[in-house]
Amino acid sequence: MSNLISSQNHYNVIELLQQLDHGVMNHFAWLRDLHRDMICHEFNAASPNLSHDAHCRCKFGRWYEKNQPAGLLDTPLFRDIGVLHKEMHDAARDMLQEQIDLQKVHPGVYTHFMDSAIQFKVAVRQFQSTLIEQVCVVDQLTGTWNRHVMHYKLGQELERLNRKGGQCCFCMVDLDHFKDVNDTYGHQIGDMVLRKVAEVLSASLRKYDSIFRYGGEEFLLCLPASTAQEASQLLERLREDIEQTSIHITGHTEPLSVTASFGVACLCSGRDIEEVITEADHALMWAKADGRNCVRIWAEDL
Ligand code: GH3
Ligand code: MG
Ligand code: MG
Repeated sequence: MSNLISSQNHYNVIELLQQLDHGVMNHFAWLRDLHRDMICHEFNAASPNLSHDAHCRCKFGRWYEKNQPAGLLDTPLFRDIGVLHKEMHDAARDMLQEQIDLQKVHPGVYTHFMDSAIQFKVAVRQFQSTLIEQVCVVDQLTGTWNRHVMHYKLGQELERLNRKGGQCCFCMVDLDHFKDVNDTYGHQIGDMVLRKVAEVLSASLRKYDSIFRYGGEEFLLCLPASTAQEASQLLERLREDIEQTSIHITGHTEPLSVTASFGVACLCSGRDIEEVITEADHALMWAKADGRNCVRIWAEDL
């Protein structure tokens, strides 16, 4: 998932939604003026609409070109807005020029202009919907899925197993002695460590696996099409990846490293999701009791 919402993206979503709203509203007013000038034959040869860089001169264009929040240009949906905004201003210029030169506008030219204006507005709205959707489903600190969407996604996985059979593994991951990290380095560094662990987990998982922030320093992993043995091999690798990650902290010579404990349980057709999460949690408690920094699989006789 291309992640628009995370504390690594340095923009305020509410502000961004408002700026995009202003962009659309400004262009409604611009559209009104353009129609007025054409219908009333009020042309100004010095109009910025006739310049080759008209898309950079409107208020929205200036914001988009110069002050857009960092990181957004890497997202295809935001790039599309810029492309469509330019196309709309280019089409407006062609239409105005035709009106000035020929005293009339070919219907195809007008249709092309209006289509591009509609496409621009649709692209802004699509981007805004994506932002809002992500605010609802993404954990802002770690960029993983949040708990609201977890039940929905796990429900989908169970439905798939009910239809097609097979099994999937849930894994509860809990950082070891994380309270000590906060106590020693402070909450901000604690947050940074949480983000780093989420990054390591995400990078090491397969593309069809999911990662959810279950609570404070706990993540729930959903590993489809995996037996407990396959899952535990993958998780053993993740465990090592976390253990070997050095986190450099300003003002400290020694890098910080953390470990995590893992508890695994299997979901198959007809089972109850909450029951399987509880089993994974029990397996996690076993991992903690066994000295932490290890993977344990739930079994009846645990
Ligand atoms: P254990 O190995 O038994 O899991 O020990 P622990 O210290 O990790 O467990 P405990 O439950 O005692 O502490 C969890 C800590 O996680 C306490 C809480 O302050 C911290 N924590 C929870 N959420 C966040 C967060 O969003 N940011 C930071 N920095 N700390 C958090
Ligand atoms: Mg915990
Ligand atoms: Mg812990």
